[in-house]
Amino acid sequence: MADKNNFDVIIIGGSYAGLSSAMALGRSMRSVLIIDSGLPCNRQTPHSHNFITQDGVKPSEIEDKAKTQVLKYDTVRFLNDLAINGKQTESGFAITTKTGETFLSKKLIFATGIKDIMPDIKGFSECWGISVIHCPYCHGYEFRNQKTGILSNGEKAFHVTSLVNNLTDNITILTSGKAEFSAEQTAKLDKHNIRIVEKEITEIEHEKGQIRNVIFKDSSKMSFDAVYSSVPFEQHSDIPVALGCELTEQGYIKVDNFQKTTVKGIFACGDNSTMMRSVAYAIASGGITGSMTNKELTDDVF
Ligand SMILES: Cc1cc2nc3c(=O)[nH]c(=O)nc-3n(C[C@H](O)[C@H](O)[C@H](O)COP(=O)(O)OP(=O)(O)OC[C@H]3O[C@@H](n4cnc5c(N)ncnc54)[C@H](O)[C@@H]3O)c2cc1C
Repeated sequence: MADKNNFDVIIIGGSYAGLSSAMALGRSMRSVLIIDSGLPCNRQTPHSHNFITQDGVKPSEIEDKAKTQVLKYDTVRFLNDLAINGKQTESGFAITTKTGETFLSKKLIFATGIKDIMPDIKGFSECWGISVIHCPYCHGYEFRNQKTGILSNGEKAFHVTSLVNNLTDNITILTSGKAEFSAEQTAKLDKHNIRIVEKEITEIEHEKGQIRNVIFKDSSKMSFDAVYSSVPFEQHSDIPVALGCELTEQGYIKVDNFQKTTVKGIFACGDNSTMMRSVAYAIASGGITGSMTNKELTDDVF
């Protein structure tokens, strides 16, 4: 083990991607510090789906089990804290946390996820992950054959609708403003009996996150069992950019096939660097990151 504040690798973010990286590194006898602020993006969803061996399990149960297995390796330390500052040093990186501690490492991994930005619609955030859902693969089956809204517009709405159409034949697109579909898209939506409602939405009426009605500005309402919505996002942490990591046009941390960022010694994995958002992908990219970070540490001295 390294000394108290000096590690081979610091991993910022200790959810699925971060824990997966830590396992590969811990098993490679690398000293690892995971700094985690405890806010995974799926924390409000009651059941996680579409990941074999854990289908239908509560997200926190998957994480707790992963954490228990990773922390069995005494090379790995877990700290509940928020990383707020990072800088390059002669031999690597220095990370400072909200509680005022500073830690040093040779390599740095960002497994920080993304922050979903909730729209200004009353009740939306309370339903997020429960009955207002972002992904047909994660939750679509559970809402199959039910009365479904797609709160979106244009290309995105058309894409999600085409997928959800296979799960239910009761779909209404809620554009909350003027619909932005091409003539060809409108014809296809019409062919599949998909309704479009342009009225502005002010509220999602719900009971403990389970949607009852969508309320419009003119006070009319429509009942739904589920509403799909894709919301904008931002990076959780500004440390990657402060250290010089480039972002993609969409706002993800730019990585190569081995999860290396554009700054030597810094890796990124999970939601912060891909639009392929899933527990399975976060774990897979975390595993690649752990082994590639270990390889870089090896190459530095061997
Ligand atoms: C509502 C919802 C439901 C979902 N349901 C499913 C599902 O059913 N099946 C599925 O496969 N996928 C699902 N997903 C997607 C899945 O949850 C994500 O792909 C996965 O959580 C990504 O893992 P991650 O480790 O990259 O990020 P996250 O799980 O979001 O974790 C990021 C971690 O980094 C920490 N962090 C961030 N910044 C800092 C910092 N500066 N210092 C310290 N810690 C920091 C956060 O607190 C958090 O713990 C869902 C997503 C959402 C939003």
